[in-house]
Amino acid sequence: MPEANRLYHDFYFQDDEVEGYPCESKKAEIENFVREVETPLFLGCTKYTKMSTIVALLKYKATNSLTDSAFDEMLQIFGDMLPENTTLLGSLYSTKKIFKAFELGYEKIHACVNDCCLFRHDLEMVEECPKCGSSRWKVNQRNSKIEKGVPAKVLRYFPIIPRLRRMYAITETAEQLRWHSTHKSQDGKMRHPVDSLAWDRINKKWPSFELDPRNIRFGLSTDGFNPFQDLSSRYSCWPVVLVTYNLPPWLCMSKESLMLTLLISGPKQPGNDIDIYLAPLIDDLKDLWNNGVKVYDAFSKETFNLKAVLMWTVNDFPAYENLSG
Ligand SMILES: [Zn+2]
Repeated sequence: MPEANRLYHDFYFQDDEVEGYPCESKKAEIENFVREVETPLFLGCTKYTKMSTIVALLKYKATNSLTDSAFDEMLQIFGDMLPENTTLLGSLYSTKKIFKAFELGYEKIHACVNDCCLFRHDLEMVEECPKCGSSRWKVNQRNSKIEKGVPAKVLRYFPIIPRLRRMYAITETAEQLRWHSTHKSQDGKMRHPVDSLAWDRINKKWPSFELDPRNIRFGLSTDGFNPFQDLSSRYSCWPVVLVTYNLPPWLCMSKESLMLTLLISGPKQPGNDIDIYLAPLIDDLKDLWNNGVKVYDAFSKETFNLKAVLMWTVNDFPAYENLSG
């Protein structure tokens, strides 16, 4: 079984049904999808599967800023070129559906164009910002007509709890998440955040949190960049990344272990209003700190209550000012 699929398999196909896991029908749905996406691109093709083709083409779309309609057209041309039994999908919509099935997706949350609020909870159905009165929808600049259904600004949130569940569902990762509890430096030298004063302070202040080494310690980092590499454009993109310090030093800062949680993009920087956008992440972090969530631990083969703490943030000074603002 290919590595990526083995991970899904570990997550979705435990022997016993446990709390916090997908129900039987969801399991069957995922099982079918796993089988389906691993089929070759066409009979006899050894280089590409249905999934690896989607990933390669979506990467090409993103790198070359291909529009959705151009992408659909490209899929149709390729579809005509390939043998009739091809598994190539016919549209962007159907490729997105595959990612959704694996819960690799994200939540799109509409935001006020002036960064006053997110249209969620009480504001879920509201069409105008209660603070500045701006429309939730895009306003056509030529005729000032409101384009209902097209959000003026969107925040993308990649929920962290399902990802923590996935990490603990993989035996190897579940074991690595305990690394810090047995590898504290004995010679006074600092090699990992476990050797830091902040780590000790948390242990002293909240001893019950320290009792279970599976509890997660996060660091948060964010900074803005211009995705178009054009200095004259003020367009900005702010990724918010979480670092899991439970992992060993060679893993905790590796690209694969960094958790992208929020993507804040728009025609201007969020500045001190960044807290508005952090709200969905903060809600999850508060829940993880105050109550914890039920998680299945594949290493010790039991369900436990996972808690998490945010130890610190890592920023340059301008971003630090925004986060504190
Ligand atoms: Zn507003």
